[in-house]
Amino acid sequence: MKKTFVNAEQLNEIVKEYPTPFHLYDEKGIRENARKLKEAFSWNKGFKEYFAVKATPNPAILKILKEEGCGVDCSSNTELQLSEMVGFQGDEIMFTSNVTPAEDFVLARSMNAVINLDDITHIDFLEKVVGIPETISCRFNPGGDFVINNSIMDTPSQAKYGFTREQLTEGFKILRNKGAKNFGIHAFLASNTSTNEYYPALAKILFQTAVELKEDTGAHITFINLSGGIGIPYRPEQQEADILLIGEGVRKAYEEILIPAGMGDVSIYTELGRFMLGPFGCLVSKVLHEKHTHKEYVGLDACAANLMRPAMYGAYHHIAVMGKEDQPSDHMYDVTGGLCENNDKFAVDRMLPEIEIGDLLVLHDTGAHGFSMGYNYNGKLRSAEILLQEDGSTKLIRRAETAADYFATLSPL
Ligand SMILES: *Cc1c(COP(=O)(O)O)cnc(C)c1O
Repeated sequence: MKKTFVNAEQLNEIVKEYPTPFHLYDEKGIRENARKLKEAFSWNKGFKEYFAVKATPNPAILKILKEEGCGVDCSSNTELQLSEMVGFQGDEIMFTSNVTPAEDFVLARSMNAVINLDDITHIDFLEKVVGIPETISCRFNPGGDFVINNSIMDTPSQAKYGFTREQLTEGFKILRNKGAKNFGIHAFLASNTSTNEYYPALAKILFQTAVELKEDTGAHITFINLSGGIGIPYRPEQQEADILLIGEGVRKAYEEILIPAGMGDVSIYTELGRFMLGPFGCLVSKVLHEKHTHKEYVGLDACAANLMRPAMYGAYHHIAVMGKEDQPSDHMYDVTGGLCENNDKFAVDRMLPEIEIGDLLVLHDTGAHGFSMGYNYNGKLRSAEILLQEDGSTKLIRRAETAADYFATLSPL
């Protein structure tokens, strides 16, 4: 059974103040989870989580994470600016971009962010634009399939990111010659993983690679960045990641591979997005219409422009009909938004309690890659974002777009 972090009574009060649809975030859950992650890696002195800003690019959320000791992972100029606004600086910022415009490297350097290069050709590019910093990281792509226990997790050979293994050695040598002193290695090999073995398996690959790179190039490797990829239980039958077990798995690999190689000073970094915020946000929407044709439809005031994942990936988001939690799910519905796109369906053939017009529906687990993937198709406007604070009060952390916002970029006729 999946539970919403607000109950029907609380939500009925909240919608009196803020019109639906909106994304709602749970400050208490965010903080508790961030503390659990920190605890899981407390064995590593230099551990730091760099929250992937793209998952939830709201300064109020970033501020909470900053207070919990997190840094940020940015991939664009705007994300850097957003982080600067919150007060992140220097090695609190990881800049993991690809196809990077020169001006983004300029801004990242001016903020003293740690630059994580996506490609060997970016070494020359970076040098021309801003010079080579003392601390630098390279993103690794081992190619082939990424396999855990005989099952293919993902196919790095088809991913656009990162250096090949040979390029890493060559790149480290070039960077050393150009004055780099402290090195990092980064890899992101599978997304939304549901096994506790992902990080430990990735850590083994990166630790082994770090030992080889140290031997082959003499580079001083100061951190290893396990990046994102820990998944969340979107479906009710799925299990939550056991972050303490994951931390222990990485520790074991660290003790087996890095310590014997005299590399016990390496810091472990993570760049989690989904794990940090996914379960602690939801999309709150109201039923506008019911339609009885070849199927039973309920139409919401939210649409794929507010939550793209179901339309884009066929992703499952659990739906709660507020106030009807104890009623049997004995009605089958397609739950849709109003875009002129037939893939604008939050759920297809979903069993739910009987729905009436005006019911409040909560779409679970929209805290990461939810609002942030929004768009303006069909002239739909982006929703508000609201923070449910620890004391139970709410705070508007982004107002809803208005038509004036939509028209603001147009030139006058
Ligand atoms: C998207 C992304 C992340 C976060 O991924 P999650 O699946 O949300 O954990 C981390 N690092 C990089 C470079 C990314 O592109």
